[in-house]
Amino acid sequence: MAGKLIIISGPSGAGKSTIVKHLKENTGFELEFSVSATSRPKRENETEGKEYYFLTIDVFKSQIEEKQFLEWEEVYPKQYYGTLKSEINRLSQSGKNIIFDVDAVGGTNIKRQYKDAAISFFIKPPSVEILEERLRNRATESEESLQKRLKKVRLEMTYARRYDHEIINDNLELTLNEVTKLVSDFLKS
Ligand code: ADP
Ligand code: 5GP
Repeated sequence: MAGKLIIISGPSGAGKSTIVKHLKENTGFELEFSVSATSRPKRENETEGKEYYFLTIDVFKSQIEEKQFLEWEEVYPKQYYGTLKSEINRLSQSGKNIIFDVDAVGGTNIKRQYKDAAISFFIKPPSVEILEERLRNRATESEESLQKRLKKVRLEMTYARRYDHEIINDNLELTLNEVTKLVSDFLKS
């Protein structure tokens, strides 16, 4: 595979999508987003095939059986997420670099498979309270979905040290500059 891999992970609300969007749109790096499959419901502002491929749980499980995933996780109870092998094959053919937004476990799995061809970032919120505030302000989750996300934060944070870089996303501009610099150096190496 000619391109390199950039893995962005961390708890829900940490700022992963914001960082991915910045790297894709404002840097000039040749990045293709790995569109994951998920069994969670589509949010109002999301488009099939752009943020995710939205599947029913039954279809998701049959694709697991058929070994169609590079990696998959039941990130929240009854909500599956995974990287399809077909997606990676499709993007690899373009020769571009691939950027992933995956959960704490998925990120370590992809890094283990691709080693030095991948750079991995764990994005941390300044505190769980601030994370909750950001998730509430984002206003995309039901109370139940929000609680599911908050319940997982402490466990997810224990994966941080397995990543190449741990970034505390306090001031957004500083975060974006820091990640951009590290990705730039990695792509040149
Ligand atoms: P994730 O993709 O990790 O779930 P998002 O990128 O959607 O997180 O960020 C969660 C919310 O917090 C969004 O509304 C985003 O605009 C906001 N946000 C991200 N980074 C910061 C920051 N450094 N300061 C304040 N708000 C932020
Ligand atoms: P959200 O529902 O907020 O879009 O994502 C919830 C969590 O699932 C996030 O931590 C996100 O990074 C993770 N996620 C998204 N796609 C994948 C994937 O393909 N694999 C894994 N392991 N996690 C994913």
